[in-house]
Amino acid sequence: MRLEGKVALVTGASRGIGRAIAVSFASEGAAVGCLATKPPADTVAEIERAGGRAVEIAGDVSSPADAEFAVDVVVTKFGRLDILVNNAGITQDGLLLKMSDEAWHRVLEVNLTGAFYMTRVAAKPMLKQRAGRIVNIASIVGLSGQAGQANYAASKAGLVGLTKSVAKEFGSRGITCNVIAPGFIETDMTETLSEQMRESVIKTAPLGRLGQPTDVADVAVFLASDASAYITGQVIVVDGGLSL
Ligand code: NAP
Repeated sequence: MRLEGKVALVTGASRGIGRAIAVSFASEGAAVGCLATKPPADTVAEIERAGGRAVEIAGDVSSPADAEFAVDVVVTKFGRLDILVNNAGITQDGLLLKMSDEAWHRVLEVNLTGAFYMTRVAAKPMLKQRAGRIVNIASIVGLSGQAGQANYAASKAGLVGLTKSVAKEFGSRGITCNVIAPGFIETDMTETLSEQMRESVIKTAPLGRLGQPTDVADVAVFLASDASAYITGQVIVVDGGLSL
């Protein structure tokens, strides 16, 4: 029970990586606020069936008011906030010359500005407690770039800069901030990718398989726990060696 007595808020917790993180946190003893634009009832039901504590929250991370509301729900219900995971993310891919203003702005708003809004409100109770863990979910694409994903890659590269700045700004108050950069993880987000692409990932990654949401969740548990107390501002790549 590495997160016994802790309270967490996970964005994008209705499916995929966010759901796996919320479920893993709860199984380690944390009470978990689960946020998504549609209320993540299935995630909360899964946690409660296993004897854990969770609350569902409907909200859009790109709205500052929804970010305030989400933190308020968690602090009101569970009395504190120890861990924030900025996981909510979207793609709207397209070649740069054809990319619309809307596709550029929406991806930046959700993936990067959303993490800023959530961090700004979640940091308040953490600063009062003089302790906290913030884990951001970026992507290896934010480190390497990707044709057809200029908006997504820029948003994820931005998350790395946000993470390092938060680590520097809040380190003296006992708050750590780290970023996980996953490679190819099997979720709804990657479901539409071609069979050829999947096979190429399996062939290229030294570990010879696609990632599972639990591969990312296991690292998030470590970064949220006391075991990572002396780690901050770091990018942890979880990609089976794909980017080597
Ligand atoms: P996913 O299956 O598409 O799930 C995305 C989650 O984010 C859903 O719960 C969705 O819920 C929520 N969400 C989307 N927009 C939101 C908003 N504006 N406000 C609040 N919640 C929102 O994606 P995933 O594959 O699990 O990815 C999770 C994170 O990992 C993302 O940041 C993604 O960029 C990153 N990542 C994924 C991979 C991969 O291979 N899968 C690789 C690298 C990085 P609603 O539908 O209810 O809004």
